[in-house]
Amino acid sequence: MRLLSLFLIPLAMLAGCAQNAPAPEPEPDLDQFAALAAPYGNVLEIPAFEESPAEVEAGLDAILARADAALDRLGAQDLSVATYASTIQRLDDIVYPVTTMLNRMWLMKETQPDASMREACTEAVARMNEWFVALSYREDVYEACQAFLARYTRGELPKLEGEQRKLMLETMRDYRRSGLHLDAATRGEVEALRNKLNELETEFDGNITDAQVEIHFTTEELDGVPEAFLTASQQADGRHRVRVTVTSDYLSVMQNARREETRKRCNFARYTVAMAENGPVLAEIVATRERIASLLGYANWADYQTEPKMAGDGATAVAFVEDLIQRLEPKFQDEVETLRKLKVIDTGNENAEIHFWDFRYYQSQYMKQSFGVDTEALRVYFPLPQVLDGMFAAYERIFDLEFEAVEPPQKWADDLELWLVKDAASGEPLGMFYLDNFPREGKYNHFAQFDIIGGKRLPDGRYQRPVVALVCNFTPALPGEPALMSHNEVETIFHEFGHAMHSILTRAESTRYAGANVARDFVEAPSQMFENWVWDADILGDFAIDYRDPSKKIPMETLAAMKEADLATQGVYYRRQLSLALSDLRLHLGEVQDPQAVVNAATAEAFFPPQAGTHFAAYWGHLTGYDAGYYGYAWADAIAADMATVFQNAPDRYRDREAGMRLRRQIYEVGGSVDPSEAVRRFLQREPSNDAFLKTLGLGQ
Ligand SMILES: [Zn+2]
Repeated sequence: MRLLSLFLIPLAMLAGCAQNAPAPEPEPDLDQFAALAAPYGNVLEIPAFEESPAEVEAGLDAILARADAALDRLGAQDLSVATYASTIQRLDDIVYPVTTMLNRMWLMKETQPDASMREACTEAVARMNEWFVALSYREDVYEACQAFLARYTRGELPKLEGEQRKLMLETMRDYRRSGLHLDAATRGEVEALRNKLNELETEFDGNITDAQVEIHFTTEELDGVPEAFLTASQQADGRHRVRVTVTSDYLSVMQNARREETRKRCNFARYTVAMAENGPVLAEIVATRERIASLLGYANWADYQTEPKMAGDGATAVAFVEDLIQRLEPKFQDEVETLRKLKVIDTGNENAEIHFWDFRYYQSQYMKQSFGVDTEALRVYFPLPQVLDGMFAAYERIFDLEFEAVEPPQKWADDLELWLVKDAASGEPLGMFYLDNFPREGKYNHFAQFDIIGGKRLPDGRYQRPVVALVCNFTPALPGEPALMSHNEVETIFHEFGHAMHSILTRAESTRYAGANVARDFVEAPSQMFENWVWDADILGDFAIDYRDPSKKIPMETLAAMKEADLATQGVYYRRQLSLALSDLRLHLGEVQDPQAVVNAATAEAFFPPQAGTHFAAYWGHLTGYDAGYYGYAWADAIAADMATVFQNAPDRYRDREAGMRLRRQIYEVGGSVDPSEAVRRFLQREPSNDAFLKTLGLGQ
């Protein structure tokens, strides 16, 4: 019921009711903020989170029933007078509340402390995914859209431009991608396969989320691992618990443990997680995708997946990845030889080789020895509140924004934060973001931005401002200390916050293009660009201050050394990324019998041979959602490096508001409503180039 009222009660009524209500639920300043949105024609609401599995189910029933009834009306319209507004536009309106619930369920299944709630939300997500599949096969809706298109093509209707034209073309393209043009029997088969694929992917993801593997080591076995980790991981029997499914635990060991046997054990445990469950599931997922692609007339799943992206087809993506692998070969071999020499000294074995389980450790040693960079020692400059303040200031400055903290009316974690975002110049409220900072049992175990309410021009003409959540897993505080971040965590949150801004600053009209709903091989570019900020002396100088002694700023020579070290390790770093991209593409080029063999071969080709008996792809969440899309990180990196040059060449560099505002207008506000290559050109004010990217890889021009 609450869900219905969320969408039906106009904001003015909500604000009016609150004055007479005996105990107003939301915080007063939240109400004021929402009321402030009205003069701008905006709607801003706190999401209402369901509080029991029964509420989830009832809410979902209501949402889907309403959407189905609206679709029935759309399908039953008089086709001879079908218009853009009565078909394509209407479809975007109808889908919006379902998408909003899907977003919320997706977030809740990854963050709710109660397992039965996570389960209910997971089921809701599965049901909605099925609903979306069924929607794309509704013939009555398709025919209405076709009827509009026929009228449009005959010139009976006004010419569409910009976002509306894009929405028309891409909605119709998606019908073709769903196979609506196929005969009934083939179409039925595609639909059934899609439902099966959804189930398999949900199972695959669930096995990853549920996996909790820990192994135990003696203090001697963990020789080299930082004291703080040893203290935090110590068990009653004196041994240490390493949760290999918690990335920070895993990295603490892999980067620091002197004993090769320890690293091998830890690596094996990590890369066999969920293998028994997900090995067969992955094989079935890959086979199902291939069958769908083939029925739809594509050569393989990679072609199907890349069609709506910048790359356009699988071969272009593969060529991009293979070209980079080749360009990096000399640099990669040089770097591995450097690491190998360290291992020779370490082991006294002239013929020592760098294995998969060695690279993190020797890279970390190399950093310490050659660049004097002990990344752990930098944590004192990065207490979490300082990092967040500094990051907020950096984003506020270039985008001309103001952030303000409020108490969230509903919390799924005790330390949950909620922030309001407004335009500093006009005072226009633009949206809100939650911050869920620390690891918990059953919580999503990486860093990610989740949409909750997406931006959208509502049917009544007002604009729904977005709400998002940043789900993080920062290193928790030790007793007597603030939570101290690694530089890597700082980089990650700057990146994720870029996604939050992408969502919140949107002005796209349709839910389909709002926020970060852009081509998947472009979506990371604006965020990846912000990773540059945490390497900049001016930006870090503002907040990277030793929390024990405010007179000590992060040492500039350390920064320079880190940068140099970063460049000196780009070969290994990037070849690993490319091995993931290649593994993912090869899995989706057709005729795959044994995913484990394909992935391990691609990994050996582009990186190091994986440890015998491991199957890391079974615990690789990117394979559902980023399938045939991992190359997009590198693709987007190339664009990000190019875009960063605009700031690097600006008078105030990474603090330059003019460049920032152009970024906001040309990239962040338009979302997917403009073709990404065009949006990038408008921001760059020139043609794109790969030069900056190759330079970041240490390859010159
Ligand atoms: Zn990202």
